[in-house]
Amino acid sequence: MPQSHHNSIDDRLSVLQKRWSRYVEEGRFEQFIEFAIAVNSLAEYFNRLRLPGLVRLCEGLENAALARLGEEETHPISGQDISMLQRQLDSLAGAVATSRNVASARRMQEAAAAPADIDWIKPRSVWMIAAPEKRAMASALTEQMQFFGFKVSKHGWDEDQDMKEAEKPLAVLFIPAGDITTADESARIAAIRAACPASQLIYLGGESEIEPIVALMRAGIDITIAAEDQPAMVLNCILDLVQTNEQEQYRVLVVEDSRVAVALIRRTLAQHGINTHAIHDPGRLLEALESYKPDLILMDMYMPRFNGVEATRVLRQMAAYNSLPVVYLSGESAVGMQVEALRLGGDQFLMKPFNPVLLAAVVKTRIERFREVRRSTRLDGLTGLLNHTAAKSRLKAMVEEAGDEHALTVAMIDIDHFKSINDAYGHPVGDQVIRGLAWLLKGRLRSVDLIGRYGGEEFLIALPGVTRDKALSAIDRIRRDFSGLPHAHPGGALHATFSAGIASLPGIHTAAALTEVADGALLQAKRLGRNRVEVAS
Ligand code: GH3
Ligand code: MG
Ligand code: MG
Ligand code: MG
Repeated sequence: MPQSHHNSIDDRLSVLQKRWSRYVEEGRFEQFIEFAIAVNSLAEYFNRLRLPGLVRLCEGLENAALARLGEEETHPISGQDISMLQRQLDSLAGAVATSRNVASARRMQEAAAAPADIDWIKPRSVWMIAAPEKRAMASALTEQMQFFGFKVSKHGWDEDQDMKEAEKPLAVLFIPAGDITTADESARIAAIRAACPASQLIYLGGESEIEPIVALMRAGIDITIAAEDQPAMVLNCILDLVQTNEQEQYRVLVVEDSRVAVALIRRTLAQHGINTHAIHDPGRLLEALESYKPDLILMDMYMPRFNGVEATRVLRQMAAYNSLPVVYLSGESAVGMQVEALRLGGDQFLMKPFNPVLLAAVVKTRIERFREVRRSTRLDGLTGLLNHTAAKSRLKAMVEEAGDEHALTVAMIDIDHFKSINDAYGHPVGDQVIRGLAWLLKGRLRSVDLIGRYGGEEFLIALPGVTRDKALSAIDRIRRDFSGLPHAHPGGALHATFSAGIASLPGIHTAAALTEVADGALLQAKRLGRNRVEVAS
């Protein structure tokens, strides 16, 4: 697994470099486009791997390339522009090489390694750069992160340790002394950014004004967290880094009567790893939507029988498709017509002949936004875990994937005597206990594992590739740690416990049966006194 990531990064980088040197030699417009596409695809890939520093470098290169895209006649670009792009490309390649070690360590932990050597408590390292004035806050955060399985090392703002030598962290937390970022602090951030291109840099502070935040981002910060959101947000941000959402391939439905246009569009999108399906007759639109389930429609304006705008109007009055992005691709250059098309339900208008880089960028960003919105309907608001429906359908997919050959273990978890926690301390404290368990699970399980909030204080977990015995010891370890986790309330701290039931493939064949059997084991755990894990026999 970790090896394959390397190969992919290396492969993509070498494609990029090859395309670039071909362009440098021959200087043709299409070669420049191919190069820009390769940069974009590498940025996309880093984004998927959650390597923000490398994404940033790629995007810098992409923007520089786009600024020089021009037209057929403006190529080859000037020698000065070529050396400028060459410099950016070299520094990208250098950053990939430096970040190799971090990425490899991180992916190694994430990989669904052989079940025999899963290390369930994974120390993931975080650097904390805190001002002495904020010592109390830094200690509290450190303690919290350690509890959730992170290894925290503290550094001062002016300390100059040899960062090149050190193992690169998953994230760096900056806690400044005051509200205003000093020049020295900015310089320190920039130095760490350069040394750790793949780490997430989080800054606690930054006013709610845009200018200082832009300045921090220029120095290399990825996320700023305003004072009132700390410290819950900090932990959330860091836990999100280890729980990546799986990226499904983008799906685009092309509605276009011209076969030549279809071929061009599909080729362009395929180069960006986007899946396409084309129909030539808009009359088949509804059945294509039903069977292909696209994330976006690329719609031609003029087609036989009825036009793209009419087809879009039909979609907009159907509940299932009223928010599906529709991008028009047309030779129509009259502004009045374009405005009308947008008014009647289109999201964007692109001209033919299209610029391939722009087309791919528009398609991707539209789909990302659309998915972001859809994602929020799949996640539980209190914990950020998958909600009941989403967890169930994910489990179904995991059971199908495991088939008869692979292990898969499911656990149902329910907090003990939760009603009395609510009764004694109030609902908000109860919520905090639920969130604490969610964080613990996120911090301890792998990104390939399913964690869902199945009911109020019930969680569903599925561990692919993990046998029953391995799962039992992992869940039991989490049970023990949870019982030691203090939950603050106005009068002090309380401790809660949970019970769990475990069931495994093979032997049980459906997701529904697995959860039912795990539920039975959970009931048994409750009956036997709670605060324990039972395996279904
Ligand atoms: P047991 O050990 O048998 O599980 O006892 P219990 O008290 O936990 O019993 P049960 O699981 O039936 O109770 C669940 C309670 O959780 C009922 C409900 O009031 C409470 N609850 C459900 N959702 C939430 C929530 O989102 N927040 C809070 N604070 N309480 C919730
Ligand atoms: Mg047409
Ligand atoms: Mg319950
Ligand atoms: Mg309960």
